[in-house]
Amino acid sequence: IKGLDLTTIREEFPVLDQQVNGKPLVYFDNAATTQKPKAVIDSLVSYYSSYNANIHRGIHTLAEKATAAFESTREAIRAFINASSTEEIIFTKGTTESINLVAATWGKENIHKGDEIIVSGLEHHSNMVPWQILAAEKGAIVKIIPVNANGELILSDLNNLITDKTKIIALNHVSNALGTINPIAEVIKIAHSKNVKVLIDGAQAVSHLDIDVQKLDADFYAFSGHKMYGPTGIGILYGKKALLEEMPPYQGGGEMIKEVTYASCSFNELPYKFEAGTPNIADAIALKASVDFINKFGKQAIREVENQLLEYATQKLSAIPGLTIKGTAKEKVSVISFVIEGIHHQDLGILLDQEGIAIRTGHHCTQPLMGHFGIPGTARASFAVYNTFEEIDRLEAGIKKAVKMLK
Ligand code: PMP
Repeated sequence: IKGLDLTTIREEFPVLDQQVNGKPLVYFDNAATTQKPKAVIDSLVSYYSSYNANIHRGIHTLAEKATAAFESTREAIRAFINASSTEEIIFTKGTTESINLVAATWGKENIHKGDEIIVSGLEHHSNMVPWQILAAEKGAIVKIIPVNANGELILSDLNNLITDKTKIIALNHVSNALGTINPIAEVIKIAHSKNVKVLIDGAQAVSHLDIDVQKLDADFYAFSGHKMYGPTGIGILYGKKALLEEMPPYQGGGEMIKEVTYASCSFNELPYKFEAGTPNIADAIALKASVDFINKFGKQAIREVENQLLEYATQKLSAIPGLTIKGTAKEKVSVISFVIEGIHHQDLGILLDQEGIAIRTGHHCTQPLMGHFGIPGTARASFAVYNTFEEIDRLEAGIKKAVKMLK
């Protein structure tokens, strides 16, 4: 592989150095969650073993240290996505909570009976169900941007889908099921020309693509720490300040208030208005180590490695008789979703696990998309910066062996 020094990168990931079912682990389930570099693990251990304290209100030294570390992640994330202010960076549990926050607050205020919400046909359930729930509550309608046979959005239909009832378009930057990179800049431009807001689900984009929320002009951008080499249980909602200011709070509790009396309360400033209760301090702090890890190489270099893996794997896998790759978009990240004639994806997944190879099988939380393709699910191999050509050779051999056994 050209570009980065893979040997040293792999050494940063302790989990990769192990045998699974008697074989060296091949981890190809990166779209579900990436592995964590030592720096992230060390950050968690260091927080809990040397400065664990609750943040923001404490005046003692540990509380000040924890607060500074927590807030320095907020600044690192601001820079990572080029938001204009840390007031626009809200800590959440993850992408799912970020999207639910917008549906429950912005949606509560702005979606009314007969209004329309547009989502794409490629959405993860977490960017579909919150809008369906909101629509049912409000008597609104959810419309779908259609998908072509390659797994790309049919954008020419978007102009017809948008009406004067359309309030928001919610779509992913990258499809988790297929790897398709969606033309979100174009969608945002079209939407804004019609005064429609746009929420981007960036869960699958953050570890692969450069993100500049100002250049994109995204209204909301949601993502999870655990898909960018960071911890689980921590995620981000970016929102434009003007929108966040108008939105009601998500949850009530400590931290999000300015003043409370027995009779009433007033709310804190951004971003704290949306961060009720003690946040996930440890994982927020460790998220900075994952941002630093990505920045150390740069997304460009990471993408070059991943593109080589994608190209190599696409060639190898598509040469296997009976195997069809689902999702052949021109613009893709390093995800290969596939089906094999006469073989259930789950059986394949179990046999590959016997070879120490971890892939994902199933509907990938995109049941509507699988329904569109007329299949119950796929097998999905997704690559990260620490994967190698040799591992792809093992996947190819593993699939061939499984096919022989199952047919
Ligand atoms: N959107 C996409 C595109 C995803 O891939 C995922 C995770 N599979 C999510 C949303 C949900 O993320 P989380 O489970 O971290 O909240």
